[in-house]
Amino acid sequence: MALDMDWKEIADLNKDPGLNDAQAIMDWASRSGLKLGLASSFSAEDTSLIHLLHSAIEKNPEAAGRLHVFYLETGRLHEETLQTLEECRKRYPGVEFRGFFPDRERVEALIRNKGLFSFYDSIDNRKECCFVRKVEPLNRALNELDGWITGLRQSQSVTRANLPAFQLDTDHGGILKLNPLTSWEESDVYSFIEENDVPLNALHRQGFPSIGCAPCTRAIQEGEDIRAGRWWWENPEHKECGLHAGGAR
Ligand code: SF4
Repeated sequence: MALDMDWKEIADLNKDPGLNDAQAIMDWASRSGLKLGLASSFSAEDTSLIHLLHSAIEKNPEAAGRLHVFYLETGRLHEETLQTLEECRKRYPGVEFRGFFPDRERVEALIRNKGLFSFYDSIDNRKECCFVRKVEPLNRALNELDGWITGLRQSQSVTRANLPAFQLDTDHGGILKLNPLTSWEESDVYSFIEENDVPLNALHRQGFPSIGCAPCTRAIQEGEDIRAGRWWWENPEHKECGLHAGGAR
């Protein structure tokens, strides 16, 4: 659903000194009147955001009908991720969690034609699997929304170095994209989780900095880049799955 906002209004939001912290941005979202979905992979960033969303809804209960959490049930998620989802469901009553599954016929055709691990064979095959299991369901999830909320941070990768808190997302029809944690460092995320008793995906304790599909995500060694565990067989510049492409300002 296209947003009734232009580039200048988005730029003004990024300059607003009252919107320079994550809770303030989430509170703004709850008052905005917009239908917004928080895209969650149940990483530390995302469970922190769910905590912030829950606080915003507690302050402004009428926002509960417009704000929700959604996740992409790719069929290849870790057990630990699904357990974190259930933990969040219990910890944050009043927050709705919506799962989006891939199109059954597309998954069946992909597996029939290329097998279960085609993504290791080429970048094109990997992007095809990400399209079927993530991008198409994401497009469906966003179709009904005025915007989405993500846990992206500038320090996560070279491709995110200039990420603002508010963006107009032209890749998804000109909707709003909110990145409340953009200026947080990894240490800020873990301090927040500790201070607020936020559910933490057990994979993080096993050395996974990034949460994704089980066959495509691994733990990293000390000193490795935090995105090194994602699609580790590819070069860094290819390491986006199409969920966060470049068409946003
Ligand atoms: S991350 Fe891997 S398993 Fe998941 S959708 Fe992409 S290629 Fe497929």
